[in-house]
Amino acid sequence: MQIALVPLLTDNYGYLLRDPASGATAIVDPSEAGPVLAAAEARGWRLSHILNTHHHADHSGGNLGLKQATGAVVVGPAPDRARIPGIDIALDEGARFRLGDAEAEILFIPGHTKGHIAFHFRGERALFCGDTLFSLGCGRMFEGTAPMMWDSLDKLRRLPAETRVFCGHEYTAANARFAASIDPDNQALRRREREVAELRGRDKPTIPSTMGEERAANPFLRADDPALAAAVGLPDAPPAEVFGEIRRRKDNFR
Ligand code: ZN
Ligand code: FE
Repeated sequence: MQIALVPLLTDNYGYLLRDPASGATAIVDPSEAGPVLAAAEARGWRLSHILNTHHHADHSGGNLGLKQATGAVVVGPAPDRARIPGIDIALDEGARFRLGDAEAEILFIPGHTKGHIAFHFRGERALFCGDTLFSLGCGRMFEGTAPMMWDSLDKLRRLPAETRVFCGHEYTAANARFAASIDPDNQALRRREREVAELRGRDKPTIPSTMGEERAANPFLRADDPALAAAVGLPDAPPAEVFGEIRRRKDNFR
């Protein structure tokens, strides 16, 4: 499967996915239609599917325009079928989505929104996780609770280390500053921080990272690490509570 990153709005990423054998082509989380159509046309690709991880407009605002322009089939989370513009196929946890020869398993990962899903293409070592997991960060809990979001992140962190993590936003540099403030001695984080500074200095995306890197460096995946629990003043607290405290601190971090 070919994967092309498409910058959208100010800091969103959409992803064009193409199965070369069949020509089937999907866009993940189109904020807007115009730049997605242009990116597909520039490659000679014809859109057949629109995949949404969640209902927010910066992930689904392009659905109707793209559907009208291309006839693409809209695929999204079943729990949010009422909030996904133009939805044709609604998928739940464990469902499969095929793009030609490539197959994704649907993971239900609520917390940022109540209906959020991820597309995990195991054979392609690729995860599209919207606004649940970011590189060195995670999404805000607009509709969920800390235990719910922690369960979702725990599900994601169990994926193979070599899984490429394609998330919804370029937030990595700001996330790195916060992560370093609570976990300053983490060498994997420091390494990633230098890499991110170098990439952003050249105006390059920091995405994808890998799940192995995130497990080592992302504080939101490490709420069950006793050192991190102690660092936020909650030694011996359950991981979901430690996670909630880390998220609260990030919400207030300047
Ligand atoms: Zn969102
Ligand atoms: Fe978003």
